Amino acid sequence: MASKGLFITLEGVDGCGKSTQADLLVDALKAKSREVVRLRDPGSTRLSEKIRLMLLDPANKDMCDECELLLYEAARAQMVREAIQPALERGAVVVCDRYTDSTFAYQAGARGLSSELVQAANGIGDCGVTPDVTLVFDLSPEEALCRATSEGTDRLEGEGMAFQRRVREGYQQLAQKEPDRVRVIDAVGSIEVVRTRMMSALSDVL
Ligand code: ADP
Ligand code: MG
Repeated sequence: MASKGLFITLEGVDGCGKSTQADLLVDALKAKSREVVRLRDPGSTRLSEKIRLMLLDPANKDMCDECELLLYEAARAQMVREAIQPALERGAVVVCDRYTDSTFAYQAGARGLSSELVQAANGIGDCGVTPDVTLVFDLSPEEALCRATSEGTDRLEGEGMAFQRRVREGYQQLAQKEPDRVRVIDAVGSIEVVRTRMMSALSDVL
């Protein structure tokens, strides 16, 4: 895709520090006078936020794996068309909290849907727009759980350690497959230490 902008996605298990580091990245980019568009997937548009509520609602225990997959892709497609593509065309830097790699790690890695099926679905949801760089913040599920906020658990946070471990393995698989795009960052250590690792992982694109 020929676009003037830069598309960065942040990935990793809940509590690994994505939101914290996204804030710091946005600050660093604004200091460089770049236009920054910060998004979260699922979400970020009117329709996508409605779908997000469905996905995270603990009451929706009856949701089957295929329904879950397609809702993520539906939310994503709307965000790509409405927010990401226009921003990239303007030359902005898009910083997105989760994207297609989450779907791979959770729906294929952890839920057990076939990788081929999830990749095909991702190909619809992303409307052909793939990240320039993806940062995977790598943290053990145990450490991530200690960090996660105690504001009650959503539908996915309630899944348990074995599930989170499979998510982590799914991300590691992606990093092996696409080492240029997917950059694993050791998320152990202080917020500042992790920030330094993140900025050096981005040094060739910023
Ligand atoms: P995510 O968005 O990946 O779920 P957050 O950025 O919300 O993770 O971080 C989860 C919690 O851990 C927050 O309370 C945050 O302040 C804290 N946190 C983030 N990074 C670190 C770190 N490097 N060391 C200790 N605590 C951290
Ligand atoms: Mg977050």
